Order: sequence, then structure tokens, then C-alpha cells
Amino acid sequence: MKENLFCKKRNAWKIFKKDEKQIHEMSSDYIKFLDNSKTERTCVKTILGFLKKDGYKDIETIKKLTPGTKFYSVNRGKTIMSGIIGKDDIIKNGLKYIVSHVDVPHLHLKPDPLFEDTGFAMFKTQYYGGVKKHHWINIPLALYGTVYLKDGKEVDIRYGDDGKNVLLIPDLAIHIDKDVTTRKYSEIIKGEELNPIVGSIPVERKDKNDKDAVKENILKILNEKYNITEREILTGEFQLVPSHKGCEVGLDNSMIGGFGQDDRVCAYASLKAFLNVKKTSKTIVSFWFDREEIGSIGNTGAESIYFEYIIGLMIEKIYGNYNELMLKRTLEKTCGISADVSPAFDPNFKGSYDKQNTAIFGHGPLFHKYSGSKGKSYSNEVSPKFLSEMTNLFDNNNIPWQMQTMGKVDGGGGGTIANCLCNLNTEVVDSGVPILGLHSPFELVSKVDLFATTKAYQLFLEEF
Ligand code: MN
Ligand code: MN
Repeated sequence: MKENLFCKKRNAWKIFKKDEKQIHEMSSDYIKFLDNSKTERTCVKTILGFLKKDGYKDIETIKKLTPGTKFYSVNRGKTIMSGIIGKDDIIKNGLKYIVSHVDVPHLHLKPDPLFEDTGFAMFKTQYYGGVKKHHWINIPLALYGTVYLKDGKEVDIRYGDDGKNVLLIPDLAIHIDKDVTTRKYSEIIKGEELNPIVGSIPVERKDKNDKDAVKENILKILNEKYNITEREILTGEFQLVPSHKGCEVGLDNSMIGGFGQDDRVCAYASLKAFLNVKKTSKTIVSFWFDREEIGSIGNTGAESIYFEYIIGLMIEKIYGNYNELMLKRTLEKTCGISADVSPAFDPNFKGSYDKQNTAIFGHGPLFHKYSGSKGKSYSNEVSPKFLSEMTNLFDNNNIPWQMQTMGKVDGGGGGTIANCLCNLNTEVVDSGVPILGLHSPFELVSKVDLFATTKAYQLFLEEF
């Protein structure tokens, strides 16, 4: 009797005991995905590779979308989507989606980054998204860039990702840091101090003038390697990411550590779920957005009209015509999952949580009933009908799930792209993988949570 009255969190390792081999296999595949996806551009390329290999075609090249058609679209190299047309009428029944984000908090180079100071050539940086700035010192960094030459040729720059030759922002020695240790937590390292050292050898000059000679040497190296000058650096896009690779964590290998798992763990889970779909009567789509970490603003973010544009394009290619009412009717009947991570309970910091309302590691995907902060400001909230139907689906297929809030009331908070999809008048719930070390250069997830979440997403796509 008691069992029927309580709704308890369940340990997913116990439930998926017989699937252990598969859980570890999926994790190794996921670690490869992480290592190939250090930036949003490389993540989009990785996802595109999987879709193309599975027979997905660019929607722009398809005249008519009919049941069974598999397609994709890439927006400016930084957002990607996939779709499978079902037999149901999308204007009558809507479609189903999973949306996640592929951008991650990290460091960008400033527009004019390269300078020389006291024997060093260095880069000026500006952080992107919510970082704890002191996480970025004393860790080996890799440089990624995309620049365009005067003739329009695109050049991709990748340096240091092999872990052999990296860049570094050294910390101050403990022996001389007394005036720094009185700083407040958020300013242990200030934004203007996040300048990695990129070189120290001066170029040789005939006139013995050493001004900017180290900087010139770096420009010379970049020119020889990539055919670029300072001009291309000023107009290009550069990012610094940790050079370390993903790996297994724990003496029992039960967890995965690595950079960028917010939100690439959900990006991977939704990709695998999508590729595994065997049957669907409804039309399904998945979107992997950029710019979530800075508020989803921008033409590759979820606030852009890209989602509506693609659904509109689909309507036109299914029905042979399009008007705004057809789009709005479709959206009104549409539902989906905002696939994003949220901080799991950490026994080292018990005081920062309401444990009862926090996801526990290894206990399956979480439902973030509402996001936002304080009095639920800037939050969307899932409807009880939709949430009840979703949890029924999970229960019927023995997928453990748990409820989540982000920390304590007045203790912080945060949003996801659920807001953007909600504002389009679709039904949406936040559901994703519990995570530790969130927004740090080395985040931690549970292998079994990844496995259970992937299964849950696939169930939603096939059966909801
Ligand atoms: Mn996220
Ligand atoms: Mn985030």
C-alpha cells in the first residue's frame, strides 16, 4: 500500500542493471562526440556528419516533403535541425520537437586581441556566458578560429587541441598573492586579467629595434600556418576552450567528465534518440541551437525566427502552399522537450540546495517544472496535463524520473530555451541530464543518466 502512495526517486543503475554493457558503450561513443565538438561550429559539423551518414538531405534541395522524408537544415554553421515527416496532418495534430543548445560558456578573443607586454605576446579575451573566471587559469587551453581571407576563402584554425602545444593563463604564485586574496569571490581573477600567454620569442630584426618583436613573431607564425594577417584576426571569430579530452570518472567508471556537457550531453542524447527512431506517426524535429548561454539572442539563437521559418518551410513543402494561420495552427498543436542539463545534488555543498526538489545523480532524467529565479521571474511553466502525460510515458516504460528546481528559492536560478518555444504557443517541458560542476571547464554527468535520458527522448519521439 505504502508503495502506491509515495513517489520516490529510483536509482537508475538498479533499473538498467542488465544494460550495463550498452551504457558503457554509449558513453565511449559520447566521449568521442564531446572531443569532436569543442565549439558550436564543430558540434554542428559533428551532428551534420551523423545526419548525412543516416541519409538526411538538406531541406532546401527537397521539392516535396512526404511521410518518411528525412531532412536537415543548418543555420550559419552554428545551429542545426533535423526532421522526419510523419503521416499525421501537422496542421491538425502539430509536431513534436526536442530542442537543445550546442554553445557553452568559454572565452572569446577580443576583436583586436594580440598585444605584447614585457617579453610576452598575449591575447585579450572576453568571456562568453556564465563562467567562474578563476576556472580558466592554470588549465591548458586550445584555440579555435574561423576567419575569411580577402578572396572570400574560409580558414579554420585549430591549435592546441591535441594537448601537446597549448596556451595558458598562469595564476599568481601563492607566495605573492596577499593583495589578491582580499578580493571578492567573483573577482579572484578579473575579466581584464584573463589574457593567455601565446609566445615569448622575438622576431629577428636588422635594426635591433625590439618593439613588438614577440608579437610580430606570432603574426609571422600565424601567417605561415594559415596565410592570415592581423587584419584577418580582427575580422575573424576566435574561441579558447580547454584542451583536455572527455574521460570516464570514478573507480567504478560510472561517470563522464569533460568540457561542454551543458548542453552537449542533451544534444547527444537527442541526436541518438532521433537517429534511433523506428516509427513515428507525428512529424518530429530536433533543433540544436547556439547562443543559449547569453540569452538566446542573435540570428543563431532560439529567440530568432529560425524555428518558425523552418516549420513554415515544412508547411509549404508538405501542402504546396503556406500562410501565417497554417503556421500558427501547427504551433498551437505542437509539443516538445527543452533538453537541457540542471545542477544535481552535490553532498559537498548541501546548504545550497533544497534536496527534496533536486535531482540526484544516477536517478534518471530530471523534469525542470519551471525555470527562472526568485518569484519565478523569466520562467515558463509546464502544464500539469502535459507533464502528467510525459511521466506516464516514462513510468509505462520503466524510465526513472525526478523533479528539479535550480537551487534554493532566492539562491540563484537560470533559464533555458524552453521560454522561446513557449512564447511560440507550443507546449514545452524542460527535461534533461543532472550535472555537477555546471559551467566549469570539466563538468560531470552520470553514464546511466545519459542512457536513461536518451531512451526517454526516443520514447517521446516514437510514442507520445
Ligand atoms: Mn544549458
Ligand atoms: Mn548553461
